[in-house]
Amino acid sequence: MAVQPIRLFGDPVLRKPAIEVVDFDKELRKLVADLTDTMLEAPGAGLAAPQIGVSLRVFTWYVDGEVGHLVNPDLSLSEETQDGSEGCLSLPDLTFDCRRALSVVAKGFDMHGEPVTIEGSELLARAIQHETDHLDGILFIDRLDEAARKAAMKEIRQSEWFGLEKPKVKISPHATNGFGF
Ligand code: ZN
Repeated sequence: MAVQPIRLFGDPVLRKPAIEVVDFDKELRKLVADLTDTMLEAPGAGLAAPQIGVSLRVFTWYVDGEVGHLVNPDLSLSEETQDGSEGCLSLPDLTFDCRRALSVVAKGFDMHGEPVTIEGSELLARAIQHETDHLDGILFIDRLDEAARKAAMKEIRQSEWFGLEKPKVKISPHATNGFGF
């Protein structure tokens, strides 16, 4: 078990575009294991490497009882959209309605370097889009309309964790009702 501290909003690593994985080595397999352990401990439905301070294009998910991971994702999004509640382990205790594509086809690699294609809809599609955004330095609050984003920023500024000298949590203080990614 190698649960890592989760970086919170305000940590610059969350705003930095992550780089492509080139070496499918033991280090990468450890990263996937750490992401999985940290995500399950939180608990969350997904976790991207920048959220534990590693700027590489890797994420994990835990949706409908299935754990998965993807390296160097490349997404095709459906035109049909879904509206639903979304939260983020890097923004504890906040959930907002966020519009996403209803389904995705995600091409990439597993931790052994084998090409994989993941097809997902609804919650899995939401998780994959949310995590891929993390790899581009995008947070879900960026995708809200202006009024909702202002409300989110107000809640963030009022939250206990915001502005702490070391904005990290070992375990998300609130489970965000299973919608934290
Ligand atoms: Zn997130």
